[in-house]
Amino acid sequence: MKTILTGLRPTGNLHLGHYFGATINYVKLQNDYEFFLEIADVQALTDNFNDPDKVRRNVFEITKDLLACGLDPKNVHFFIQSKVPEIAELTVFYSNLVTVARLQRNPTVKSEIAQKKELFGNDGESITYGFLGYPVSQAADITAFKGELVPVGEDQLPLLEQCREIVRKFNSIYGDTLVEPDAYLSENKRIKGLDGNDKMGKSLGNAIYLVDDDETISKKIMGAVTDPNKIKKDDPADPDKCMVYYYHKLVNKDNTENICSECKKGARGCVQCKKELISAMQEFLKDFRERRKVYDENPELVEKILEEGTNVAKERAKDTMKDVKHAMKIDY
Ligand code: ATP
Ligand code: MG
Repeated sequence: MKTILTGLRPTGNLHLGHYFGATINYVKLQNDYEFFLEIADVQALTDNFNDPDKVRRNVFEITKDLLACGLDPKNVHFFIQSKVPEIAELTVFYSNLVTVARLQRNPTVKSEIAQKKELFGNDGESITYGFLGYPVSQAADITAFKGELVPVGEDQLPLLEQCREIVRKFNSIYGDTLVEPDAYLSENKRIKGLDGNDKMGKSLGNAIYLVDDDETISKKIMGAVTDPNKIKKDDPADPDKCMVYYYHKLVNKDNTENICSECKKGARGCVQCKKELISAMQEFLKDFRERRKVYDENPELVEKILEEGTNVAKERAKDTMKDVKHAMKIDY
């Protein structure tokens, strides 16, 4: 059976971008692979080192969200990154195999630095060694489990390429040891934000979270970006410029054709259209909310799932470490 490794940084709850960009694939693939799902607390600390409470809280939040999306702990090993020290050890070994210039050129790193002006300053002067190196730590995450397939959103592809380069370099110097992983992209490669931004993201403040209550969702959808040329209710509009239509396509598939043609004809007002999206969103979230409630009421279930998954992950990472140390001739 092939191995999947993927991870999430516990810095906030899951949003629609995570769900349609990545989580939907976890659910789909969970029966057919040996599946390791990392809650990447160490990586979350690279840009949240000054807020350990946030990271700790979100380890449990994100695990509950993932379980509520329909991931079955019988199929998926949920584990906490910091409990598998082999990952940190591998990160040190790999840090010799990648240049600083290459990390600085990595498009994902670049765009995340640009997004984090507050943390790193406009000129990036305050970028930490740890943040610049997080793609190396991600290569360690994947290879510690000999992950073959990594389901991710499109924004993560440069990180995966970086991992593949490290694997090739390692194998060429020390002999065939590590496995080169492939990305697995979803149909919806990148989900846009409520503000029309190309990416819905936690740190962009433009996300609908799966745990949002009805009132929050209503407010967010009522404020979503629509075609700016549509002024009056009966004006025809371009649905492709409208985020409300965009989300209808995700959660209200059966009705999108009709919505599209009415919008183009000016036969549909934005307020009505937003109200319909709010209802569709509530329907879409029904199963998630039911499952999430069970885990909220039984936190010990979540702790047990994390403990059991972490035990399996530890064993696997130890095996890999043996091979790595042998290849590097440090198996004293
Ligand atoms: P942050 O803004 O803090 O970086 P994020 O919202 O980008 O957070 P991550 O934890 O960085 O979320 O991403 C976790 C996974 O979800 C990755 O595989 C990423 O590609 C995917 N993902 C996140 N946002 C989107 C999106 N808008 N569309 C598609 N995939 C996404
Ligand atoms: Mg991100």
